[in-house]
Amino acid sequence: MRILIAGGAGFVGSHLCERYLADGHTVIAVDNFITGAAKNIDHLYTNPNFSFIEQDITVPFDVEGSIDAVLNLASPASPIDYLELPLETLKVGSYGTHNTLDLAREKGAAYLLASTSEVYGDPLQHPQQESYFGNVNPIGVRSVYDEAKRYAEATVMAYHRVYGLNTHIVRIFNTYGPRMRLNDGRVVPNFVDQALRGEPLTVYGDGQQTRSFQYVSDLVDGLVRLVASDYHEPVNIGNPVELTILQFAEVVNQLTDNPAGIVYKSSLRISDDPQIRKPDITRAREVLGWQPRVDLAEGLQRTIDYFQREQTRGLQG
Ligand code: NAD
Ligand code: UDP
Repeated sequence: MRILIAGGAGFVGSHLCERYLADGHTVIAVDNFITGAAKNIDHLYTNPNFSFIEQDITVPFDVEGSIDAVLNLASPASPIDYLELPLETLKVGSYGTHNTLDLAREKGAAYLLASTSEVYGDPLQHPQQESYFGNVNPIGVRSVYDEAKRYAEATVMAYHRVYGLNTHIVRIFNTYGPRMRLNDGRVVPNFVDQALRGEPLTVYGDGQQTRSFQYVSDLVDGLVRLVASDYHEPVNIGNPVELTILQFAEVVNQLTDNPAGIVYKSSLRISDDPQIRKPDITRAREVLGWQPRVDLAEGLQRTIDYFQREQTRGLQG
């Protein structure tokens, strides 16, 4: 297959490029580097099946030749990023989704939208099933991301219903791994960076809010299976093992032998911070035969090793 990956220079996108190339496919990554990085894909250029187009997908664009699948992962994803880039986030969710859908339609390609557990907002159902409509504050600070993704999902379903496009929607739950930016503000890079420096981990609020953390290779496996399926409704892809942020901090401190403990910190981020989050993955199991394989200790160790190398490089560079 010839596959276009919008957001291909980002954290998840770069792993997805790698996976499709390893499976023998041709990959065209498209990105404007607004939150991604050239270094995430530098190592892929030696593969003749890889190419890159620097492009803002909020502007209509064309690509020469046939395309079998368009995977749209382009969007700021870290709360710190989308709070700093509210208009860019709304535009990529709306214009960017339309433009990539139009490209898929022109090429007769399959389409995948990377949506998010944030469409459930601060959920009143636990764990979250795909049938849950969510509890989103439409004017809160997180709404630029949540509502952009909800709009994007509506747009994808409309293209499917109106044009019969072969579309897929994945609702991704918190995912971590190598190539997250050290300073992207999400809890995994923040905690690991702090722990490796021997500093206390900054817990926002009372630390009783929960998250369920998935290693990136599990997500990539789910995405590849979903694109290959003929399933058009949204599918949760996430690891259902749920921890409070306090428990998660303890795991990071243990794995890094960090004696500095934690410190409670107030943060602008706390407004509308979902209090609980855990995917119901029954649908992914049944429709895709998918389930997560990498447990937290193993995935975190790989991530810690990566951030250790990044910190050393930063000190040298
Ligand atoms: P990321 O910020 O590392 O990657 C996003 C990529 O999209 C970046 O390379 C960025 O430069 C690119 N991009 C943004 N706007 C663009 C535009 N207008 N034109 C072209 N490229 C643009 O984030 P990530 O964690 O890799 O997330 C990838 C996707 O998965 C996002 O759509 C995100 O909403 C979704 N997602 C991720 C998670 C997670 O935990 N990582 C959870 C839920 C959903
Ligand atoms: N968080 C924290 N300390 C940090 C960063 C995040 O306590 O240094 C909390 C944050 O308030 C949220 C959870 O960790 O409750 C997950 O935050 P993240 O930014 O990783 O992603 P989110 O799930 O909110 O999109």
